[in-house]
Amino acid sequence: MGNFVGYQCSVCGKSLRADYKGYTCDSCGGNLNVILDYDHIKKTVKPEDIFASPEKSLWRYLPLLPVQDPGFEGTALHSAGYTPVYKSDKLAKNNGIENLWIKDEGRNPTASFKDRASSILIARAKEISAEIICTASTGNAGAALAGMAAASQWKAVIFAPKTAPQAKIAQLLIFGAQVILVDGNYDSAFDLSVEACEKYGWYCRNTGYNAFTAEGKKTAAFEIWEQIISKRNSEKPLNIFVSVGDGNIISGIHKGFKDLYELGWLPVMPRIFGVQSEKSAAIFNAWAAHTEKITPVSATTIADSISVDLPRDGVRAVRAATQTNGAYIAIPDESIYEGISELGRIGVFAEPAGATAFAGMKKAIAMGIIGEKDDVLVMNTGSGLKDIRSAMIAAGEAPVIAPTMDALEEFLSK
Ligand SMILES: *Cc1c(COP(=O)(O)O)cnc(C)c1O
Ligand SMILES: [Zn+2]
Repeated sequence: MGNFVGYQCSVCGKSLRADYKGYTCDSCGGNLNVILDYDHIKKTVKPEDIFASPEKSLWRYLPLLPVQDPGFEGTALHSAGYTPVYKSDKLAKNNGIENLWIKDEGRNPTASFKDRASSILIARAKEISAEIICTASTGNAGAALAGMAAASQWKAVIFAPKTAPQAKIAQLLIFGAQVILVDGNYDSAFDLSVEACEKYGWYCRNTGYNAFTAEGKKTAAFEIWEQIISKRNSEKPLNIFVSVGDGNIISGIHKGFKDLYELGWLPVMPRIFGVQSEKSAAIFNAWAAHTEKITPVSATTIADSISVDLPRDGVRAVRAATQTNGAYIAIPDESIYEGISELGRIGVFAEPAGATAFAGMKKAIAMGIIGEKDDVLVMNTGSGLKDIRSAMIAAGEAPVIAPTMDALEEFLSK
């Protein structure tokens, strides 16, 4: 199966074979890292081969993935990833730094970062002949799985909190998945989905729990490497800001850069900064206390995509910052709305969890963690159309006038 050679437990270090059937370590329950055959990749592929690929999706990184190309060319499944990066001199200047890029994951097929994981998971399901894939989700992971499943005619079962934003629930339903809303939070949906998968033999895609989600998410690191790092004339590390809920996006991005480093294709590791809301800060708390022990919180942030009591990828998420000389930043929810507005002014429409990363960058600059000469890339992880209620709070009301020139002139003269 491609370059996939097995797993290594992220907690106790135990190695497991590629045909291991469990999701997490059978000794300690830790999350598993996917191990690739780096020597083989080094011998058979060069960065230039990848840069020359005509494929305009995450499948251009196929030699670095633990799955085979699942096919489905020309469908939404095959078009996840390879999202645009915008350089904004205006936003950089307004925030007192020289170089700022925004990578817009809202441009994925179902409008969030989660498409990366779900397309890889469908490929994996195909390889192991898993007929039904199931996931718990705050909304986006479910929408992504439902969309990718619809594109490939796979069967998907989604558990989400009934309080998820309407647009996300609408996506789940439109894509034709079996949708089960729980009268509880994301954590309760997670626990129920794991039990259901065990009982009915469904393949569990759950974020962090399934080792392959990080393998999809790491493709964002490959893109940052290709789109920015390889073209940038600087020896200084790039500073990457990403919002954190379960901690799987940040872990996946870290894994992607570690893969590149291992291959000798990345001279300097970027610094990775995780941003959480103060109202959902379990991983920030662990980082601040210099521990990898994650203590659950009672999450209440308005950024639903990162509202998590017990992060499922907390250990690796802490390391993403500590091992790259990064940091964690906790921000108040009010600054999320400001972030949505500010990103809007450069043509990027972010959902609250996306704007969280930007708000974290602002705080890091204010704290002096990021200086004028530090190059920064902010991940916008999801589209603002996912949660228009929050967008309206950020934007305020539009004026209403009578449909006459008189009324217009009166309004404009004010
Ligand atoms: C899932 C999600 C996140 C957080 O990812 P984790 O892996 O849970 O840390 C951030 N932003 C958006 C839009 C998401 O959907
Ligand atoms: Zn273990």
